Amino acid sequence: MSRTERNCAGAIVFLGPPGAGKGTQARLVARQLGIPHISSGDLFRENVEKQTPLGLAARSFMERGELVRDELVNEMVRKRLGEPDCEWGFLLDGYPRTLEQAETLKGLLQKREGCGPPVVVNLGVSYTVIVQRLGGRRICPVCQRTYNLISQPPSNDNVCDDDGAALQQRPDDREEAIRERLAAHEARTAPLIEHYKAGGRFYEVNADRSLEQITEELFRVLSPGS
Ligand SMILES: [Zn+2]
Repeated sequence: MSRTERNCAGAIVFLGPPGAGKGTQARLVARQLGIPHISSGDLFRENVEKQTPLGLAARSFMERGELVRDELVNEMVRKRLGEPDCEWGFLLDGYPRTLEQAETLKGLLQKREGCGPPVVVNLGVSYTVIVQRLGGRRICPVCQRTYNLISQPPSNDNVCDDDGAALQQRPDDREEAIRERLAAHEARTAPLIEHYKAGGRFYEVNADRSLEQITEELFRVLSPGS
């Protein structure tokens, strides 16, 4: 065991469907707790950009239109958790996604001195709210800046603040596509949620509310002694 794997304060895992605001909340909470926010999406992009062996292997899966294997994802996370900034804990966002990944994480945590099982928070959102949030998303085709007609509207109706281009909706954010994404998410994460519920360090947070209210409850749930 290397020195950096000792005395881990704890691991936090955020689960939640698209539209739950998981990434935003994870960034806020991690900053406040002084631990790194490890997003599987960022980890992926970094490995692909830096052309690491893992990134190159992952890209070949993606280019064939296949899901990236658990082993690859697990290995990216294992490497990241070995970095010095993870010594006192970390917040995982987008990992684990499968039971196999959850088992790997458990093994990684067991190797760290003083590190118990992860605290898992599920950000639950109702269908109506998800459709409002994702359905309101617009993107500028020129500079790729993203807006939300409800929470981050452009200054002028439906045009980009930076270049005046007409904003567009991605096919992924249309209601029919949202419905499919949610069904896929639920099928994938239901066993994971059951698994962590049984483990006892599982919290359900109602993410239908405002960003500030959600952050507040997250701090309440994650504060020591709760
Ligand atoms: Zn723009």
